[in-house]
Amino acid sequence: MRLEVRVIAACICVAIASPAYADVTGKVTLDGKAPEPKQIDMSGVKECADQHPDPVYEETVVAGEKGELANVVVSVKTDDPSALGGELKLRSGVARLAVENGRIARVVLENGEELEARYVLSSAGWCETMRLCDDGQPVVGSRVPGQLSFCETIAALDTQPRDLGHDRAVTFFNDHSQFTWRRPDELCDVRSGVVCSPNNFAYDEPLDASLAKGGTMRVTVLANFDRWRALDEQSYRLEKLRWYDRITASAVRFVPDYRGHAIDSDMFTPTTIVRYTGHDNGAVYGAPDKQLDGVTHLKNLFICGTDQGFVGIIGSITSGIAMANRHCLHK
Ligand SMILES: Cc1cc2nc3c(=O)[nH]c(=O)nc-3n(C[C@H](O)[C@H](O)[C@H](O)COP(=O)(O)OP(=O)(O)OC[C@H]3O[C@@H](n4cnc5c(N)ncnc54)[C@H](O)[C@@H]3O)c2cc1C
Repeated sequence: MRLEVRVIAACICVAIASPAYADVTGKVTLDGKAPEPKQIDMSGVKECADQHPDPVYEETVVAGEKGELANVVVSVKTDDPSALGGELKLRSGVARLAVENGRIARVVLENGEELEARYVLSSAGWCETMRLCDDGQPVVGSRVPGQLSFCETIAALDTQPRDLGHDRAVTFFNDHSQFTWRRPDELCDVRSGVVCSPNNFAYDEPLDASLAKGGTMRVTVLANFDRWRALDEQSYRLEKLRWYDRITASAVRFVPDYRGHAIDSDMFTPTTIVRYTGHDNGAVYGAPDKQLDGVTHLKNLFICGTDQGFVGIIGSITSGIAMANRHCLHK
């Protein structure tokens, strides 16, 4: 389904309050008739079906009689951040946040460069950000870092999962009477997991053209960061192979067995997550205690992202917008 949405410029006013801040107001309407909402099939989960005796419909497009739309996110994009007064610095690790008089005076990069800013928003995580502040105590150790991390296998197939009889985008599985959501004692806990097949998302075209010929199957399970980190290089590689097999064997009890169709495979572990995100313990969803208002002990330092409270990809994007709006852009 392709949606034509047009912006009616009844009133677009741009008030520049700072080089990187603008107000945009307007009206977004649906051009054409809204598609009939599909009924959500709850037959697969008895508890959901019991709670909803009456039909429940998808709310992908919620439109009024004149094309008014509810729940719309408008994205104002430019390929050039400098057009919005910004500068994107990649591969610029932050070595230290220099604190003076209860505020961040400078952001010191690993290459020695120093940046000054009225406000600093950090998505590095609560504990990780606190360690960067050079005022040390009492904030370091003020909160327990997250413990939940994951391993995920990915298999590239020579066929589409739906040709093997698998048409679901996401399948949660659990083979015990109780669901255990905690750090496992072993390297992984394969009793439960999530199988994801991005080919089965409800789009007219595959998300990625390279998926058009063959599909992918991903399986995510709980994992123990400390156990993975303790392995030497050779054992790490060996355990990855072992656990790839175990994770996949567990998953194919709940989805069609795709192992004979795998033409390539890989797997990430909690240490991969630490390497690429810097989050303590490879905790994808951050610390258990969230800082919902984003404020810290410093006047101009705010937390955004997972440790502020909105988790996941969409959550962390929303968090950045919300914290920037709340603390930086209206002052
Ligand atoms: C492998 C994996 C798969 C996932 N799959 C999904 C999914 O399918 N759907 C979903 O909704 N969520 C998924 N998540 C979770 C989602 O990615 C996170 O919830 C989200 O990215 C968190 O956003 P964030 O901004 O808080 O942190 P991050 O996205 O982790 O960003 C933190 C950034 O800070 C940088 N950083 C840290 N320290 C420093 C420093 N000292 N100097 C400079 N930069 C620093 C890191 O390099 C990183 O870029 C997944 C996460 C992982 C790791």
